[in-house]
Amino acid sequence: MEQIQGSYLYLPEGELDRRAETAYEIYRECRVCPRGCGVDRTGGGRGFCGLGDGLKVSSFVRHYGEEPPLVGQTGVGNIFVTSCNLACSYCQNYQISQEDRGADRPFAVVAEEMLQLQAGGVNFLGWVSPSHIVPGLLKSLALARKKGFRLPIVYNTNAYDSVETLKLLDGVVDVYLPDLKYSDNRIARDLSRAADYVERSREAVLEMFRQVGPLRVRGDGLAERGLMVRHLVLPEGAAGTWETLCFIALELSPRVPVSLMSQYRPVHRALGIPGLARRITASEYQAALAMAGELGFETLFTQDPEDEVHNLPDFRNPNQPFPLDRVRNHESFVC
Ligand code: SF4
Repeated sequence: MEQIQGSYLYLPEGELDRRAETAYEIYRECRVCPRGCGVDRTGGGRGFCGLGDGLKVSSFVRHYGEEPPLVGQTGVGNIFVTSCNLACSYCQNYQISQEDRGADRPFAVVAEEMLQLQAGGVNFLGWVSPSHIVPGLLKSLALARKKGFRLPIVYNTNAYDSVETLKLLDGVVDVYLPDLKYSDNRIARDLSRAADYVERSREAVLEMFRQVGPLRVRGDGLAERGLMVRHLVLPEGAAGTWETLCFIALELSPRVPVSLMSQYRPVHRALGIPGLARRITASEYQAALAMAGELGFETLFTQDPEDEVHNLPDFRNPNQPFPLDRVRNHESFVC
């Protein structure tokens, strides 16, 4: 089948540049993400995420660890940006999200890297944890498009996104892939330093759903366009799985594919937090699957909780941070 084209190719002439400029202006009193730090990132100000108005990137890499409709045969071309607007105690990418491992890259260089990933044959370009740096990514995309870039964009996010910023991605992003992490703000505050996570993430996902609807998949199994929601099951019910799944089923649709992830591993600060210093059990994961079944989701993506292989990255090797890459990480399960 034909390569899927990014929706941004069909925007009016100059619109992608206008979106990038409009987004960049938000840096002047930064509210690119829901933290709304209000600093001027164009004038040396730094907020929670610690970044200025350029792009800082930790890795450009072909990745096989995403869900099957994105990976296909050739993987996703992922841009792992540096820093994050959350500070999760258990982040498996903490080397880049919280330890600043990455390099400043001019917009034109990132555009060239996008073109390189495309030339390598991937089906999608993934922006990984991009919520704090959308303006720069839009600028690079606008440059890449002028040089023939055409891949659809996967917006792979922790869901702590600003609706104002997301509106600038309407008609630009084809696949939204948010990880809805919590349904209790007290836990979100303690584990990720986001005391309004529940409201902000749900507003954001509602906007994503408005833009693209449930994920649609082509005859060859590849994603076409739409929303798929991830949920990482945490030990001791800390992720609020039932409430999160209810939100997706009742306020979005049971037609939205859900990726229920069992890959939690205690890393980073979680090693010292009672209750988080262990993997989830098989019965905790089975309970999550049963909840999804009860709510009637049409498509689930699952992981084997006993599996030792879950692509824990090591970004000290930015060219290949996933040493066990090429290993299939998710099973699809049509209810
Ligand atoms: S993007 Fe960074 S500086 Fe801007 S509001 Fe969010 S955390 Fe603060």
